[in-house]
Amino acid sequence: MAKKIYNFKPGPATLPDEVMQKAQDEFTDYQGQGYGIAEESHRSKTFQEIMDKTQNNIRELLGIGDDYAVLFLQGGASLQFSMLPMNLMLDGKPACYADTGSWASKAIKEAKLFGDVNVVYSGKEKNYSEIGDPHSWQIPADASYCYVCTNNTIFGTQLRSLPDTGNVPVIADMSSDIFSRPINMDNYDVIFAGAQKNLGPAGVTLVVMRKDLAERTKDTVPTMLAYPTHIEKNSLFNTPPTFAIYMVGLMTDWIKKQGGLEGMEKLTNAKSNSLYEYIDSSSFYTGTAEPADRSTMNVCLRLPTEELEQKFLKESEEAGLLGLKGHRSVGGIRVSIYNGMPLQGVEKLIDFMSEFEKANS
Ligand SMILES: *Cc1c(COP(=O)(O)O)cnc(C)c1O
Repeated sequence: MAKKIYNFKPGPATLPDEVMQKAQDEFTDYQGQGYGIAEESHRSKTFQEIMDKTQNNIRELLGIGDDYAVLFLQGGASLQFSMLPMNLMLDGKPACYADTGSWASKAIKEAKLFGDVNVVYSGKEKNYSEIGDPHSWQIPADASYCYVCTNNTIFGTQLRSLPDTGNVPVIADMSSDIFSRPINMDNYDVIFAGAQKNLGPAGVTLVVMRKDLAERTKDTVPTMLAYPTHIEKNSLFNTPPTFAIYMVGLMTDWIKKQGGLEGMEKLTNAKSNSLYEYIDSSSFYTGTAEPADRSTMNVCLRLPTEELEQKFLKESEEAGLLGLKGHRSVGGIRVSIYNGMPLQGVEKLIDFMSEFEKANS
């Protein structure tokens, strides 16, 4: 076999070997039926079983009941930036947004197309290197909803608590940290995530929504963009991304096997703690995010010079450690350690970093 590659790309991202192997085993012949899932009708009993299992896995991991819908939609997390305000903004009631990074900024831009937006926090002036204390954000009692992004993929910061919203519904973009730690759904009315970082391949977006919120949707919202359409038809109004949903099914089976979200949190912390401990102990590498807010999923750092960063990227790639280049808007190094990254990958990276430091400082 070729040398082991560890893929630290920021998304689409690495998936567990076990999940990829199972998909390969079943690719051309799903459970003895003689053809694969990508070739199966979305109206078949076989696919319905996959859908039911996947939704049940998600309900079990989140500890939610029938008052929430579990939807598989298309258009990426980015379409949710528009669908959410289009469906859930109430006339004359502002929507509150925390601008904690590029993805939140994009969501704000879309929301402004549909009504008043109240930006309750902005990290822009500090180049989104910190989030601060969400309890200090002022959320008016009549707000349509309060929107947060729980992990800022590009800047490597993560939300550790929620603002005090009272009865105002909370919506969270969890695209880059979903199922990496326990989620108390009593605190969230909508969570959503493009699957391609923590949950499976690209092509499907998970939306978990309190069903009564969807009663806000007006008749003027186009059918495909209206949540009630997808809730009523259980994500089968039109052809859903069947293969991507199947992969999310395998991924959620795997997460359950790791001990559910508590088990995932142990793995997440083992990976991120060892990396941050190493960075903190080194004077060669510098983390860019404020320590209290730094992400367990995307670890952003700088080297003493940009020339050394180029050299680091070249040599790490040669060592089989891929995808470490920071986002083009911030530069530097970004280590994405989503759910699919094993602890061994992080250990190998730390060994490499340590050798590189010795050779270059
Ligand atoms: C990657 C990402 C997105 C964009 O997802 P798409 O599925 O490409 O639209 C949105 N939000 C966050 C936090 C992300 O990390």
